[in-house]
Amino acid sequence: MAFDPANKIQDLQYFGEFGGVNPSVSDSSTYTFLSAKTMFDTFEGNTEGCYLYSRHSSPSNLYLGEALAALEGTETANVTASGMGAITAVILQCCDAGSHIVSGRTVYGGSYAFLKNFLPRLNIQTSFVDITSAEKVEAAITEKTRMLYCEAVSNPLLEIADIKALAAIAKKHNIPLVIDNTFSPLTIAPAQHGADVVIHSLTKFINGSSDCVGGAVCGSKEFCLSLKDVNDGAGMLLGSTMDSLRAASVLKNLRTLHIRIKKHSENALFLARQFEKDGFRVVYPGLESHPGHETMKKQMNPEYGFGGMMTLDVGSLDKANALMERMQHSNLGYLAVSLGFYKTLFSAPGTSTSSEIAPEEQKQMGLTDGLIRFSIGLDNDIERTYDMMKACMKALGI
Ligand code: PLP
Repeated sequence: MAFDPANKIQDLQYFGEFGGVNPSVSDSSTYTFLSAKTMFDTFEGNTEGCYLYSRHSSPSNLYLGEALAALEGTETANVTASGMGAITAVILQCCDAGSHIVSGRTVYGGSYAFLKNFLPRLNIQTSFVDITSAEKVEAAITEKTRMLYCEAVSNPLLEIADIKALAAIAKKHNIPLVIDNTFSPLTIAPAQHGADVVIHSLTKFINGSSDCVGGAVCGSKEFCLSLKDVNDGAGMLLGSTMDSLRAASVLKNLRTLHIRIKKHSENALFLARQFEKDGFRVVYPGLESHPGHETMKKQMNPEYGFGGMMTLDVGSLDKANALMERMQHSNLGYLAVSLGFYKTLFSAPGTSTSSEIAPEEQKQMGLTDGLIRFSIGLDNDIERTYDMMKACMKALGI
């Protein structure tokens, strides 16, 4: 039977302390033990069901982790205080001084900055490659490579990683394939295609209400426990722990993810098709003109569509800025970074979320000045939205 993450989340059953239909929130930073021996064993990581200290683990974080593991079909998942908290912990857990990483060249600007600017301080070097070329990926691997890293659907160019092909390369070279799946929860389940670790920024679609930051690492029990190890776990020692109250609220939002993703996808596909018909340069994985369309179809969960992210090139940064301001003025959405909100969010990635990437490198990867990245909202009447967007464009001569 096909992998069905929404059913797996639906099938989780919770009872709170007083019979509540939501699990009770563990509002404690530390936990008592009836015996000193159990405390010692817990420190050693040997006692299931016992809690020590909430930076290590807490019931609320475990509940959310369990639901995210169901989402990705992994053995388990750890939750973190942000997506970057997940990314940095995973990288530092897998790499030592002298290690080398092969990364997709179009990844979130913060991830790019960490790999390019921060990690060399620890003598960890990264080669950035076109992740859609298996030959280029394999050619970049050296004997020092400790990780193959990319995004399933890349930020902001929406390139599609062929996860099965990348997993085969990673396996051949005995390195983990780490996939950031922030842009495509439910649509793509990277672990089902061979990824070893799946990362999310929960800040985006999964939480879906733009009211918090959060992250997750989904993977094997062995890897996730290693991150929490009190002696050398990067998650435990770098301290990017999610707060229990927040874990409880993200869990509640996760339960409507399947409905939201379908609507984001439906709306984005409609707009992408319309703007393409109008002659704009639109990038959307659901369009046949997208170079990764066939790869996407091969690995996607079709009932959730092609996702809510779309880019549109309006020719210049000035035009992009004018259009975004006008759209916000018309209440079509917000001129804001981030994604996955009920309203459409738009930004020019070259000067915002990808500004960490040098201008000449942006040019090389096709990140043009006039590019607007859209996270398409949950608008009930997307035809009305399209008409309003067209009116904004017309007024500006776009
Ligand atoms: N991964 C992707 C693809 C992102 O777009 C972002 C943020 O924009 C992150 C990771 C970082 O997540 P956070 O802001 O939750 O740290």
